[in-house]
Amino acid sequence: MAVKTTCPYCGVGCGVIAERNAAGLVSVRGDPQHPANFGKLCGKGSALAETIGLEGRLLEPVIDGEAASWDVALDHVAEGFSRIVRQHGPDSVAFYVSGQILTEDYYVVNKLAKGFVGTANIDTNSRLCMASSVAGHKRAFGSDTVPGCYEDLELADLLVLVGSNAAWCHPVLYQRMEAAKARNPACRIVVIDPRRTATCEGADLHLALRSGSDSVLFNGLLAHLARNNAIDRAFVQASTTGAEAALGQLAGQTVSQTADICGLAEGTVELFFDWFARTERVVTLYSQGVNQSSSGADKVNAILNCHLLTGRIGRPGMGPFSLTGQPNAMGGREVGGLANQLAAHMEIENPQHRDLVQRFWRSPVIADKAGLKAVDMFDAIGDGRIKAVWIMSTNPLVSLPDADRARRALETCELVVVSDCMRHTDTTRYANVLLPATAWGEKDGTVTNSERRISRQRPFLPAPGSARADWHIVCDVARRMGFAGFDYADVADIFREHAALSGFENGGARDFDLSALSTLDDRAYDALAPVQWPVTRDYPTGTPRMFETGEFFTPDRKARLIPVTPRAPENATSRDFPLVLNTGRIRDQWHTMTRTGKAARLMTHMFEPCAEFHPDDARKAGIDDGGFALLSSAWGRMVVRATVTAEQRRGCVFVPMHWNGEYAGNSRINALVNPATDPVSGQPESKHTPIQAESYRLKWHAFVLSRNEIERADADYWVTGRAGTCWRMELAGNERPVSWRDWARARLRLGDADIEWIAYRDTSAGRYRYAAVLDGRLEGCVFIAPDHKLVSRSWLSSLFAEGAISPSARRSLLIGQPREAGADIGAVVCSCFGIGQRQISAEILKGATDVEAIGRRLKAGTNCGACKPEIHKLLNSIAKLDGLTA
Ligand code: SF4
Repeated sequence: MAVKTTCPYCGVGCGVIAERNAAGLVSVRGDPQHPANFGKLCGKGSALAETIGLEGRLLEPVIDGEAASWDVALDHVAEGFSRIVRQHGPDSVAFYVSGQILTEDYYVVNKLAKGFVGTANIDTNSRLCMASSVAGHKRAFGSDTVPGCYEDLELADLLVLVGSNAAWCHPVLYQRMEAAKARNPACRIVVIDPRRTATCEGADLHLALRSGSDSVLFNGLLAHLARNNAIDRAFVQASTTGAEAALGQLAGQTVSQTADICGLAEGTVELFFDWFARTERVVTLYSQGVNQSSSGADKVNAILNCHLLTGRIGRPGMGPFSLTGQPNAMGGREVGGLANQLAAHMEIENPQHRDLVQRFWRSPVIADKAGLKAVDMFDAIGDGRIKAVWIMSTNPLVSLPDADRARRALETCELVVVSDCMRHTDTTRYANVLLPATAWGEKDGTVTNSERRISRQRPFLPAPGSARADWHIVCDVARRMGFAGFDYADVADIFREHAALSGFENGGARDFDLSALSTLDDRAYDALAPVQWPVTRDYPTGTPRMFETGEFFTPDRKARLIPVTPRAPENATSRDFPLVLNTGRIRDQWHTMTRTGKAARLMTHMFEPCAEFHPDDARKAGIDDGGFALLSSAWGRMVVRATVTAEQRRGCVFVPMHWNGEYAGNSRINALVNPATDPVSGQPESKHTPIQAESYRLKWHAFVLSRNEIERADADYWVTGRAGTCWRMELAGNERPVSWRDWARARLRLGDADIEWIAYRDTSAGRYRYAAVLDGRLEGCVFIAPDHKLVSRSWLSSLFAEGAISPSARRSLLIGQPREAGADIGAVVCSCFGIGQRQISAEILKGATDVEAIGRRLKAGTNCGACKPEIHKLLNSIAKLDGLTA
């Protein structure tokens, strides 16, 4: 049966149709009727069916390493939390939850913390993602409201993407923008980002500004708009306050000064300002590059100021637009999942709101002050103020800044409860109690995407083992703690209560209102079609755009322009730490790889975490492309493979955030990231950590490819995973084993029986190669060398897709290169169809002149389309080479 559900990854919130055939095999496809994606899915979404296997799942409760029954585990958690609250007060416990849990899960855990335990110490990994947007929205609009909708991106004539690599991080939405641009020749795309990312491939202008200078740029734009009479005076007069103050301090800020501070050419800044001033329909999209900053909230307000001054908000094709990273960061915001919020977008500091929520919940208490935000919460765990923490569906020891400090905090915490779907994560290692939670495909509830659209996540698989839904676990613990108000019949019951609270004594005073959904019966809840909040009696089918009347949610109903004084990032570079570390996402992985790491095809695009260096910085540090670099900051160190590319801004280094202890050794980049946070939003500064980089020489380098999972080895560097049709491991180290032959055999876990071993040894050069063949089939191979210049892995990997290998391939095995031209596809570009760089380059050299032609010839880019920017880049780089040789 086909079940309509929602993708569990990014904030685009694509509709997915999942189908299970008679043999139990699951397939997924995009839902053509879902208004977020109209049938499209990116590579991650398309690979969802490959991530639902039970390997690695946590299937039963565990206490101190021993399996336990649910009754025992729930009693243990309830008694532990109750005892600690009794002895040390409500603020001695905390809940650290996640933008991956569903709104109903979020609702009950927030209710338990704030209304029954009486603490606001509940925060979420969404703090790391979009807290600055929340703070900026609230300061400007009086509410955390995303004004527009995805349709606006298609109606705009100017799309400005700030700190957003949407081509990789929000691929389906980016492709909607690209398609709109193709239909509308007047449409321009501007990218503002220190790095030249895949998103720049489709852009008309790229402003590679100095890290952290976004507020200066948007202040400069605000001054330029005023100077050039681009102010919507009627709107400013009727619907805003603060314009004079915001502009007052900027009177002298010229384009030239702006360009100078931002490290940009004056003409480039002038062009961008001019386009913005002259284009009525402009949408400014921003994401983690803006939010993850010690002045993130100010950066958001600097952007919002420009839209408020020009009145470009609340109308089709225009407005500021916060792209949320997580599938349900918005749902978490709606129920008050952040430590400084109450439920239903109400304020914890507002006594009327507290009274209202407490009366609605009939709760014994209500938290009356903001709780500890993520980074502060883990500090409080570390210094003993918090003695019990319940971590739900997240892996903070990988994702929090200064991650080793967070690890030390959990080591000393009296009671660490982790509910998760996976048994082994960096965080579950430190849990006293593990509670098995259901995963995507088994979960039932709702999520809200970046455009305020609520969609159902519906189950199509039974819960495995004794896994339970998060809301169910929370309610079980709450009842055991002696609290009434947690006897929900099912998830629909929770949703009705959540919707009813949003409309309780609202009367249009608050933006978040689902009152028209509070009476849905179970069947209607199950059938709920995607809908944008508010959903009220006046707007029963939802609300695509907010602020259409020019009224906001401040006491005087006017929006606020906030004067922004740009601040430098909290930790400046120095002689010791001269480079700026910037962290972020890659195309085919999601967060800490818990699910995407299981999909073999998603591991083919980028198998290892790589630090990207500008060629000048690499040269100075003696770092080779493909060699290793030791990165150090004042907080931690990491050994990582280096990529040298002119796309990186000089002085900056980019490292992806995903790798963790399950997939690699010592490669949690967040161990280096500074714990500076924004004073308003509490969001950490993950885009700016001063670091030092030096070449890191290791005595031996190796890779292992195998049909079976590879045995781990002690090594200074290792990365493992299932990539394409085989398992792969990359290793490097200083200590050599006694026998490379035995070492290689141990990695492949093959007994001697019937295996034919082929070997090549050059002992003096330190080169060893081994291949194991069984019945003509390649079972595994191991290549070892004294430097990183080992052969390409792509051709050897492709041999695992075959049965018996050909005589020619067999002769080439230990060379690692095919004899036939074209047999090595090169690095995978299109992971949907496994098309490599060399195949695409060959077609370009044969005459393919555009992305569509490559699609026709190789299918690359014709499924999810997320690789199109890379194909475009190859087309451009080969065209440039042609130009040079012509
Ligand atoms: S863009 Fe990709 S990851 Fe994001 S919701 Fe859609 S399918 Fe999922």
